[in-house]
Amino acid sequence: MAIEGFPDNTKPLTNHKMIQDKQYDVVIVGGSYSGLAAGMALGRALRPVLIIDSGNPCNKQTPHSHNFLTNDGKTPKEILTLAKDQVRMYETIEFLDALVLHGIKTESGFEVRIQTGETFSTKKLVFATGIRDIMPEIPGFAECWGISVLHCPYCHGYEVRHQKTGILANDETAFELSSLISNWTNDLTLYTNGPSTLTMQQVEKLQKHKINIVETVIEQLEQEDRYIKNIIFKDGTKAPVKALYARPSFVQHSSFPEVLGCEITNEGYIKIDASQRTTITGVYACGDNNTRMRTVANAVSMGTTTGLMVNKELIEDQF
Ligand SMILES: Cc1cc2nc3c(=O)[nH]c(=O)nc-3n(C[C@H](O)[C@H](O)[C@H](O)COP(=O)(O)OP(=O)(O)OC[C@H]3O[C@@H](n4cnc5c(N)ncnc54)[C@H](O)[C@@H]3O)c2cc1C
Repeated sequence: MAIEGFPDNTKPLTNHKMIQDKQYDVVIVGGSYSGLAAGMALGRALRPVLIIDSGNPCNKQTPHSHNFLTNDGKTPKEILTLAKDQVRMYETIEFLDALVLHGIKTESGFEVRIQTGETFSTKKLVFATGIRDIMPEIPGFAECWGISVLHCPYCHGYEVRHQKTGILANDETAFELSSLISNWTNDLTLYTNGPSTLTMQQVEKLQKHKINIVETVIEQLEQEDRYIKNIIFKDGTKAPVKALYARPSFVQHSSFPEVLGCEITNEGYIKIDASQRTTITGVYACGDNNTRMRTVANAVSMGTTTGLMVNKELIEDQF
């Protein structure tokens, strides 16, 4: 789905003819918050870097991004535009609007291939590729995602504080989310969308905190301009809500890290160490692709750390 203000992936690529034969110190796959932060640190370290981005950040549908100091309440596009303008100031940084399909390990580092078939050589590789949320097959869910169907109370909970709120979850996630969200509202109902799998102990605890549990199967989310109005159930009844929290499943946005051999954790994240190194030497990962701590601030922090650590490794290789 094309989102206003974000690059159209079908657009012709820019500048790629000029840079194809160059050997980069670092290629960063993914040029959103985390990739740009890594790029800034590396630009300031005078490193030739190519940032390749397909223009599809996970928060593109959300109208306002919160909880990132100095940028609270700005649109995702405003934050990205400012970030990109600042990274662009460093003359060793180049950008390419493209989708990296795959790549290989070479004697001197790595070779990455974009969708046109063109390849780029680099000593080190950074994955700042993010994750892709899988929208459940409930009509209305995808439309409201990031607007009134929410993934994180720290990002959007303040705006819907004290309002009639639902949680769409079952199992451990249901209990964890219910206790978390009770911090923002007393008017909370858990919708398990089928028989609850909570333990008796968990049910008693939720009841003690006046959190209702509704097990009726959901037909659709009724919405107006992407703002949820009612949960419509298969039995014909409905429940009004102002906000609904959910934690949909996800996949890595790019399969390239796994294909290259980077170990993936049981939870589905790229395995990294404290220096953002993956299990493949010379390959780093930063941002959402390796953490549950899903915020712009954390993605930027990890990107900055990655830039510093990659530069340190490059110095150690040469010194
Ligand atoms: C709906 C929603 C709302 C959110 N709201 C907030 C909020 O209010 N505040 C907050 O702090 N956080 C918020 N977050 C979390 C925040 O958006 C993420 O933590 C952040 O975007 C992670 O940054 P990232 O750079 O790791 O990944 P992303 O921002 O997802 O960017 C990944 C980039 O990599 C590119 N890419 C992927 N694969 C390839 C490839 N093969 N080739 C080229 N490019 C590739 C993508 O196109 C994309 O541009 C929200 C998340 C969601 C889903």
